[in-house]
Amino acid sequence: MVVSGQVAVVTGANRGIGLEVSRQLAERNVHVVLTSRDKTKGQQALNHLLDRSLSVSLFQLDVTNSDAATRLCGHLVKTFGRVDILVNNAAIYLDEGDKLLDIPLETLRNSFDANFFGAYSLCKTLIPVMKKNGYGRVVNVSSGYGAMDAMNARTGAYKLSKLALNGLTQILASELKGTNIKVNAVDPGWVRTEMGGPSATRSPQEAARGIVWAATLDADGPTGKFLRDTKIVAW
Ligand code: NAP
Repeated sequence: MVVSGQVAVVTGANRGIGLEVSRQLAERNVHVVLTSRDKTKGQQALNHLLDRSLSVSLFQLDVTNSDAATRLCGHLVKTFGRVDILVNNAAIYLDEGDKLLDIPLETLRNSFDANFFGAYSLCKTLIPVMKKNGYGRVVNVSSGYGAMDAMNARTGAYKLSKLALNGLTQILASELKGTNIKVNAVDPGWVRTEMGGPSATRSPQEAARGIVWAATLDADGPTGKFLRDTKIVAW
């Protein structure tokens, strides 16, 4: 497949914020590789964007499967020779309101597998391709629940997984200093998706805007920061 512009990968793109980020990026003439762990759900999301004549394609990816991340990388190199943007959006929210010592250890491990190790393994696989091409924008979709001042009682598995994701953002940005690869974390706010529920205060469209901004930063844009709606917020 020949594409004229940039190529982006969005994880968990079959619904919610990931689908909307994919739409907004594709509207900016970026070719978006939607990734979805479920092929049928991914195909439905893809069709939704293809109906709008957007440049999008699909790759099946469970972010907890590092072999699949390697296969994705091979596909991107073979098909496009590049990957410019990585949006680590996929996440699970398993322990709302639960106390940390009351949840099974599995819940903590599964939260880290999807929310932290998933992002880590995609960074590990795709950033070397960005390095070769001298350009990259990585956005880790985090949460206000990952901020230090959110480290109070309940929902600990989710909070700790996002805290670790925030730490990953800072370490990678620091290790990539001097390259044209930026790594930022974005808090989308409380959003009306399956995760956020119908009472949430923001639409996926509003939430996606700040993520797309971070995914398309100019050379003088921030790196290693926690962002919300284009503003830097406290870790
Ligand atoms: P969502 O509607 O629940 O969507 C989550 C997406 O992640 C789905 O596509 C889901 O796929 C995918 N996913 C989960 N585990 C996966 C895995 N192992 N491999 C691949 N994909 C996987 O949630 P959302 O509200 O759009 O959330 C998007 C991001 O925003 C997340 O990082 C979340 O933590 C963050 N966030 C959301 C809110 C909010 O209020 N909604 C607030 C703060 C932060 P399936 O359809 O197959 O389950």
